[in-house]
Amino acid sequence: MAPGTAPDHDLIIVGAGLTGLSLACWLKELSQAHGQRMPNVRLLEPRTTYTNDRTWCFWDRMDHPFRELITHRWRHWQVSSGQQRAIQSSDLTPYALLPADRLYRHALACIDACQELTLEQGARVSSVEEEGSGARVITDAGQLRARAVVDTRMPASLPGSSVNGFWQVFTGLEIECRHHGYDTTTARLMDFQACPSHPCFVYLLPLDEHHLMVEWTAFRTERDNRDTRSQLEQWLDRAGINDYRVLRSESSLLPMIPMRRERGTGRVIRAGVGAGWMRAATGYHFASCQRGTRHLAEQILAANQRGQWHLRPPTLRARWLEWMDRVFLRALRRHPDRAPEWFLALFAGTTAAQMSRFMNDEPGPGDALAIAGALPPAPFLRAALS
Ligand SMILES: Cc1cc2nc3c(=O)[nH]c(=O)nc-3n(C[C@H](O)[C@H](O)[C@H](O)COP(=O)(O)OP(=O)(O)OC[C@H]3O[C@@H](n4cnc5c(N)ncnc54)[C@H](O)[C@@H]3O)c2cc1C
Repeated sequence: MAPGTAPDHDLIIVGAGLTGLSLACWLKELSQAHGQRMPNVRLLEPRTTYTNDRTWCFWDRMDHPFRELITHRWRHWQVSSGQQRAIQSSDLTPYALLPADRLYRHALACIDACQELTLEQGARVSSVEEEGSGARVITDAGQLRARAVVDTRMPASLPGSSVNGFWQVFTGLEIECRHHGYDTTTARLMDFQACPSHPCFVYLLPLDEHHLMVEWTAFRTERDNRDTRSQLEQWLDRAGINDYRVLRSESSLLPMIPMRRERGTGRVIRAGVGAGWMRAATGYHFASCQRGTRHLAEQILAANQRGQWHLRPPTLRARWLEWMDRVFLRALRRHPDRAPEWFLALFAGTTAAQMSRFMNDEPGPGDALAIAGALPPAPFLRAALS
């Protein structure tokens, strides 16, 4: 802040999506649990209403403020290609689904019940600037000052996938049908389909005997999601599911692209998918988001206690794991046709516990060895050395 200028807030959170709302809920939960004073926090969000725009899936193996909101858990998960399949099972760490509307409702109620948290909807931020010992946030309605800012917007430009990585593009439908016939205890994570130029698969979650969440997903080098809906509808037809009602749809293009994480200035730090928090090799973000926002909330409460604001980006995962992911993506870019073989080998050659730790960003060295041992060495050695 410029000398003599009082901040409007201790902290401003730019964007109240998964990361912004998780941070707000962690702040409230941890301040209550440890008897720490809550900072004065304002969240700025352009959306004026929240809709059920996505579902979050992850392996249910950690505590977070939204765990009670999980609606579905599958104790088996499988990867398949044609007649081949690899199945893993665990009662301890099932695959879980949390619908966005439940999370949004819970987080908005949490903010409403806490006088130190304010959510301003309909507020679009155009820029965030460091200023003296704080930061200035410019919105379309004016400017605000804070001791620190956490910015969860996507950056204006993302690194291209021209060299490394993919765009994960998908369209999903939640459908109701008379009887789909899929086993409701098994989540089908990847059922590989014949696509000539890139890996593509069907992701299918039987919600109950009459409801399915089903997605057509492709790993593409171009940012192009044009035909995934028609591909999905054709697949449903081929699978004999043609008498159904669409209850909800979701689609996206997610960057499976390794991003350099900025250190930030201590006063302004970036968070969320736009800051490279999503796991590039998997497209999963929920678990690392909970770990990252918890770590940030701990720092913010300590900064507020001390009156010294200097925030550091959280450590989300080990550096060697990020290196493994880069090698994996590089190898997959060179051999997209081998995706079914490699994913089947991964799930067949590891245990459910190893895989759930690996997918939720918390593998130990033994898990990494099991993962590496499950894959054919030559293409990965070449990718590692290139
Ligand atoms: C359909 C879909 C399904 C997904 N499924 C999964 C899944 O199953 N598992 C998983 O781990 N991940 C999943 N993801 C990936 C990831 O978890 C989500 O994208 C998640 O919402 C990202 O969190 P975020 O906070 O980074 O971004 P967002 O949740 O998008 O939040 C960013 C916020 O910033 C706001 N904003 C944008 N511009 C401005 C501005 N100028 N000023 C102020 N605010 C602004 C936005 O309105 C938004 O609310 C999915 C993503 C999508 C889109």
